[in-house]
Amino acid sequence: ARDTAIAGDTAPGGTSDGRPVPLLANIGTPADIDRAIAAHAEGVGLFRTEVLFLEATEPPTVDDQATVYADAVARLGERKLVVRTLDAGADKPLAFATQPDEENPALGVRGYRLARTLPDLVDTQLAALGSTATPGTWVMAPMVATPAEARDFASRARAAGATTVGVMIEVPAAALRAESILREVDFVSLGTNDLAQYTMATDRLRGELADLLDPWQPAVLELVAATARAGRALDKPVGVCGESAADPVMALVLVGMGVTSLSMSPGSLAAVRFALRSHSSARCEEIAAAALAQDDAAAARAAALALTSTAF
Ligand code: PEP
Ligand code: MG
Repeated sequence: ARDTAIAGDTAPGGTSDGRPVPLLANIGTPADIDRAIAAHAEGVGLFRTEVLFLEATEPPTVDDQATVYADAVARLGERKLVVRTLDAGADKPLAFATQPDEENPALGVRGYRLARTLPDLVDTQLAALGSTATPGTWVMAPMVATPAEARDFASRARAAGATTVGVMIEVPAAALRAESILREVDFVSLGTNDLAQYTMATDRLRGELADLLDPWQPAVLELVAATARAGRALDKPVGVCGESAADPVMALVLVGMGVTSLSMSPGSLAAVRFALRSHSSARCEEIAAAALAQDDAAAARAAALALTSTAF
């Protein structure tokens, strides 16, 4: 009965006392949008555009890309769409964009760092996005480490016609300086997969190190909390689009820290919606404080779980 109730709840995301928390979907292609809408996503919080070009050997043209972005916009209608510019490199190699000779690709020319080596690639994508953007289309850059990079991206994206511009916070340096970064952009989105990887110095692809890669690691939680605090100070949106948002208990912690939207795989939306709906904003803050007070990942999750009011 509980599962039926969860599946039947199609209301917008929010806490029991009515604080809205838009629940969005992570997608790799426009076709994923149909599944997201079927799961009652309120929009797309992360469109991983590099997925479109994993097989491509030549850089995509403005027209190639404009067609795909227009398709995504059409499928979403009025719903929000956050498009991430190409995040090539490391775990997402693109034949036309990845440096073959890097010894440490995760620390190399990846994400927005491509603007240094292949600026035309970035500008071509921004031109395609600018030509198809609607007011609900937000554009963000991955792997930004400094306010200067955020400023550089914002000016390129705005010049191409983007109206709402942000960056991902997935490098510890960016989380530590989130307020300075937020002064340059309209919003940020936390990528907790890479934030955990870089905070814990743990390759995200090494299964045997999963305990270190855990987003419940207090050091990771602290960087998320610092970023959320910066968002509250400047009154700008701070979303989370890493896999951690799909854990209903973590979702309560994130909301308690002040995160304003959560984006995840569509299959996780119903459970997260139910968890939020079952807890007040004040209770989420208590849950976040309890998690942050712990010294290890398991203790942080246990402390959060102990304050929840539903079975997970
Ligand atoms: C992340 O790093 O958390 C993220 C959402 O981006 P990706 O998993 O595509 O690197
Ligand atoms: Mg990432």
